[in-house]
Amino acid sequence: MSASPKSLENEFTEFRLLIDGRQVPGASRMDVINPATGKPLLQCPRADRAQLDEAVAAAKAAFPGWSRRSWEERRVMLVALADALIARQDEFARLLTLEQGKPLMQAQFEIGGAIAMIQAFTQMKIEPKVLREDATQKIVQLRAPLGVVAAITPWNFPMILLMIKLAPALISGNTVVAKPAPTTPLTTLKFGELAASILPPGVLNVITDQNDLGGALTQHPDVAKVAFTGSTATGRKVMASVAGTLKRITLELGGNDAAIILPGVSAKEIAPKIFFGAMINAGQVCLAIKRVYAHESIYEELCAELAKLADGAVVGDGLDPKTEIGPVQNKAQFEKVKEFIADGRAHGKVIAGGKVSESGGYFVSPTIVRDIPDDARLVREEQFGPVTPVLKYRDLDDAIARANGTEYGLGGTVWGNDLAQAYEVAARMDSGTVWVNKHLDLPPDIPFAGAKQSGLGTEMGHEGLEEFTQLKVIHVAKSA
Ligand code: NAD
Repeated sequence: MSASPKSLENEFTEFRLLIDGRQVPGASRMDVINPATGKPLLQCPRADRAQLDEAVAAAKAAFPGWSRRSWEERRVMLVALADALIARQDEFARLLTLEQGKPLMQAQFEIGGAIAMIQAFTQMKIEPKVLREDATQKIVQLRAPLGVVAAITPWNFPMILLMIKLAPALISGNTVVAKPAPTTPLTTLKFGELAASILPPGVLNVITDQNDLGGALTQHPDVAKVAFTGSTATGRKVMASVAGTLKRITLELGGNDAAIILPGVSAKEIAPKIFFGAMINAGQVCLAIKRVYAHESIYEELCAELAKLADGAVVGDGLDPKTEIGPVQNKAQFEKVKEFIADGRAHGKVIAGGKVSESGGYFVSPTIVRDIPDDARLVREEQFGPVTPVLKYRDLDDAIARANGTEYGLGGTVWGNDLAQAYEVAARMDSGTVWVNKHLDLPPDIPFAGAKQSGLGTEMGHEGLEEFTQLKVIHVAKSA
């Protein structure tokens, strides 16, 4: 059952942009669709170019004051932000399910992760480093904040991906203009409302668009850094658009992560882990398992186990507690996923799922495809949906070469009983993050980066914090 707009209004006040500490209506309004029904959930504000300029100007004006505050003062405000989110955790989770589609338990997990992300950055600090000191001189390395950061996020994890940017940007003294994806603006707008009563005006600004303001934001001369998560195609546009002003950028982009299953593992034991890694959030995870390479000795059994899990999975509205897999987030992605299923049928064998809803909601039953060649679209491209190809290999070197044979290099997993061998395979995968015998474990204090066309720069961890700063070295001669 999805909530009516009426019951939403009871839980939340009206949705507004946040510009210069003020909650303001948009220049116009736009529908937000509930992916479980395909129908409008409610309307929210849509900013125009003038409001974008106001938001950037407010962030620019707030920067000198915010950056001059002590780290401790900023830390206290970020702790207050995390506490405010904790106090409304359940409402945020419900709103996230309504706009994004994910099962409520996964939404609760995402809000918990967003809180943990803020808290983790409040525990970090960048201290000045004395690089050299003797009787005549002292050389000190500092890290100065950059200025206005544009935080641009996609629709699969709107809250956690926002905090990955916002928390390190703010704690290190930058100000922020956040722009969520057009199909999942609500939780970010609500977070702006929380921030309005905690942060000084202009430190955080939230604007929304219909995919029409991203370019203006990344090109804006008063934006110092773009922290972007989204598709590789849009990432390329961002990179081109910042060239004119040589802005700093962090790009966290698409992936086509392979899972390599070594001989000797129990298909029955690992199948649920592989299935979860491929299907969580309806497969709409940058680091989801998007291709499975199974050794020929367990291929048959693994395919059968995955098909059994797919047949048994409960697909439905994320607000229904029985639901394990929610709808695909938006219509455009739903249409794309249908194409991948058709490709699976045309070039491989669909052994489970393959059904899509005709009811208006964007539901896709978890789909397992076997006997599909490496050059099929479903294997080559990022499907970003609950459709998983399972491929067979005989020779391990060949499997690694096939896993690496892609422009992407975000993540990957290796599953095996011989840990030394599994580690060696992991080290040979051309990806920024590789897990052995587990998946999607992402502690906020551990850095995360994409290799090849999956990204540029690092998020999370101390390295992720430093990305929001400029290296600065001061040389002092001890006598004038
Ligand atoms: P997208 O690239 O379509 O959109 C991402 C954001 O960019 C949205 O806010 C969008 O409005 C904005 N945008 C659109 N055009 C822009 C432009 N010209 N300039 C600047 N911004 C612009 O991505 P999506 O479809 O929302 O998200 C799915 C993609 O995100 C997948 O490829 C997924 O793998 C990737 N992703 C990557 C990570 C990671 O950490 N590497 C995490 C989550 C998602």
